[in-house]
Amino acid sequence: ALDIPDKKVDSVCPYCGVGCQLTYNVKDNKILYVEGRDGPANHGRLCVKGRYGFDYAHHPHRLTKPLIRREGFPKTGDFTLDPSRVLDVFREASWEEALELAGGKLAQIRDQHGKHALAGFGSAKGSNEEAYLFQKLVRTGFGSNNVDHCTRLCHASSVAALLEGIGSGAVSNPVMDVTRAEVVIVIGANPTVNHPVAATWMKNAVRAGTKLIVCDPRRSDLARHAHRYLQFKPDTDVALLNAMMHVIVTERLVDRAFIDSRTIGIEELEKNVEGYSPEAMAPVCGIDAETIRYCARLYATSKASMILWGMGVSQHVHGTDNARCLIALALMTGQIGRLGTGLHPLRGQNNVQGASDAGLIPMMLPDYQRVDNPAARARFEQAWGTALDPKPGLTVVEIMDAITRGEIRGMYIMGENPAMSDPDANHARAALAALDHLVVQDIFLTETAYLADVILPASAFPEKTGTFTNTDRLVQLGRQAIDPPGEAKQDLWIIQQIARRLGLPWNYGHVSEVFDEMRRTMPSIGGITWERLELDDAVTYPCLHEGDPGEPVVFAHDFPREGGRARFVPADIIPANERPDAEYPMVLITGRQLEHWHTGSMTRRTAVLDAIEPDPVALVHPLDMARLGVKPGEVITIASRRGQVALYARADDSSPVGAVFAPFCYYEAAINRLTNPALDPFGKIPEFKYCAVRVTPG
Ligand code: SF4
Repeated sequence: ALDIPDKKVDSVCPYCGVGCQLTYNVKDNKILYVEGRDGPANHGRLCVKGRYGFDYAHHPHRLTKPLIRREGFPKTGDFTLDPSRVLDVFREASWEEALELAGGKLAQIRDQHGKHALAGFGSAKGSNEEAYLFQKLVRTGFGSNNVDHCTRLCHASSVAALLEGIGSGAVSNPVMDVTRAEVVIVIGANPTVNHPVAATWMKNAVRAGTKLIVCDPRRSDLARHAHRYLQFKPDTDVALLNAMMHVIVTERLVDRAFIDSRTIGIEELEKNVEGYSPEAMAPVCGIDAETIRYCARLYATSKASMILWGMGVSQHVHGTDNARCLIALALMTGQIGRLGTGLHPLRGQNNVQGASDAGLIPMMLPDYQRVDNPAARARFEQAWGTALDPKPGLTVVEIMDAITRGEIRGMYIMGENPAMSDPDANHARAALAALDHLVVQDIFLTETAYLADVILPASAFPEKTGTFTNTDRLVQLGRQAIDPPGEAKQDLWIIQQIARRLGLPWNYGHVSEVFDEMRRTMPSIGGITWERLELDDAVTYPCLHEGDPGEPVVFAHDFPREGGRARFVPADIIPANERPDAEYPMVLITGRQLEHWHTGSMTRRTAVLDAIEPDPVALVHPLDMARLGVKPGEVITIASRRGQVALYARADDSSPVGAVFAPFCYYEAAINRLTNPALDPFGKIPEFKYCAVRVTPG
C-alpha cells in the first residue's frame, strides 16, 4: 500500500520549458509521488518525466559532502560513472576548506592573469535568482562577461534572429494559443517527445478544427495528427521557407497594411525571394511545388496562423537564417500581435527563458541590455556599485577554445555538464582537464565534475524555493518540499560564499531578496511581487507595474525596436558545415528521448524512466540496417572525424534513409564526442543537427 503523505507542496516540474505545475507528496523528507496541478500551462496534465522523474533527488549517488581532488590525480577526461571510484579521485573536505580553495584560487587567477582568464557556466536547471546571482558574480567578481549557459546550445540562434527582427527574444504568444489558431506550423520540433504536455494542446486543437502543418526531416508522432506533413530534406529549411515566401509575395497574399505600418525592409526581402520559386526549390528541399504553394496560401490567408519551432531549426550553422525566415513569414502576412498568431520558439529546459532573461549570457545584462551599450551598462553599474566590462564575453564553445589556447585558466560551473553536452565532447573534456582550476557545483558527480578540482554539493529542485520562467514567459514559483541530503547546501548560499572569497560582501537572506533586486533592475518583471507569486503561483511578463495583469500576447501595437517597427532580414541557402562524403556517408542528427533529460544525470537515476529506456540506442532506418547487415538490438559503431561510440541499433523509419538519430543522454555512448563544433556566426550555436558519420556493425 502507498504511504500516506504528511505534507503536500506545490511546485513546478524540473524538466522541460512547458512549465507544468505539480504537487510533491512528501513523507519523512521523502517524495512519495507527484500529482499534476491546475497550472496555466498544464491544467493538471503531466508527462512521464513530470510524473515519475522525481526520485533522482533521493538517489544514493547524490553528493553529500564537498570534495577536493587528490593531489596529482590525473584529469584523463575519460572517467566513467563508477561511484565506487569517487574517493580514489577526490577526498572529502569541510565546507570551509572547499570554499577557501574554490573561491581563493579563482581570485588568485583573476589577480595574476587578469579578469579574462576566468569564465563561468550557470544553468537553466537553476532558478531565476540563482542565474541572476551567478551572472552578477561573474560580472562583478571575475570582472568580465565570460558567462554563458545551455541556451547557447539550444535557441541562441532563434534569440539572435528575434532580437534583430522584432526586438525581443521571447515568444510572442503562449503555447495554449494553438487552440485559438486556424493554422499552426510546427517546424523542426518534436513536441510529443520534448514538450509532451504542449503536444497534447496541439492535438486538442487539431481535434477542434485547427489545421496543423508539420515540417521536419524526421517524422515525429505529431505528424500523425497533421493536415500536411512536409518531410523536407535535412539542412534545407531556408529553401523551403523562402519558397513559401515567394508564393506569398508573387500571389499578393502579403498583408500590405501591416507591412507598411509596422515593418521595415520588405523590399530587400521581396527581391531576395524572387529566385526561390517552389518549382526551383522542390528538388532542393524534397517537397513538391504544389504542396509548398498550398501550405503558403493556407498559412497566409487564415484568420490566425501561428508558428512554433524547436532545435531542428536552431541547431545549424544557418540557425539564425532559419529563424529569420520564420519571422519574415509572420511579418509579411501580419500573423503576429493577435490571439492565435505569432512566433513561439519552444524553450528546452524548464528555466532557459528565465536564465537568459536574468543575464546568463555573455553579451547581455539582465533584461537583454547589451553590455556594450554605455547607457545600459551605466544603469547596472549604479545598481551594483561597480564598474562593468564593456567587452562582450565568450560563448560556450568559444570558452572551450580559449582554454585550449591558454587564455582561460579557471572556471566555475554550476549545474551544467559540458563534458556531455558540448559538441566535439572529446575536445571539451580535454579543455576542462587543461584548466588550472575548475570548480563544479552540482548534485551528482557528473562527467564534468570528474574533471573538477573542487566539487560543491548543491540542492535539487525540490530542495529549494525560487522562480522559474517557462516557454510562455510565465514566472512561476517553485517551492521547497524536502531538505538537501547530508551536507549539501542551497545553491544561493554557495554562490554567495564563492562571491565573498572574490571580495563581494554579499549577504542576501531569503531568496525573495534576490528577486526584489531583479525587479528593480529588470523592468519586464518590475510589477511582479513575491507576495503575488506566493498567492497566484504564476505571473506572465511583461508585467510593468503592480496591478499589471501581464501580457501573454505581445506586439499588438508596436515592436520593441527603434521606431516600434519590426525588420525583415533576408536569408540565402548556406550548406551544413560538414557534408557526407565517401568516408563518412551518413548524417547524424542528435536530440532527446521522451524518458531522458539532456545529459541524463537526473533521469538516468530515476527508477521508472531508466527502466523504460536503460541503454544507449541509435535510431536507424530499416533500409540502412539491411544495407549494413544489422538487426534491431545489435551493436553498431557510429564514427565521425572527431570520435566514435558504440550503441544499440533500433529500427526506426522516422528519419530519412541515410540519417541516423541518437540521443545525447548516455554517458557510456556520449554522442557529442561525434558532433561538429562549427558555429552559426550570429547565435554562436553549434551544428548539432547535422554532421557526417560512418555507421558500421559491431
Ligand atoms: Fe515536465 Fe515538460 Fe513533462 Fe510538463 S511536459 S511534466 S514540464 S517534462
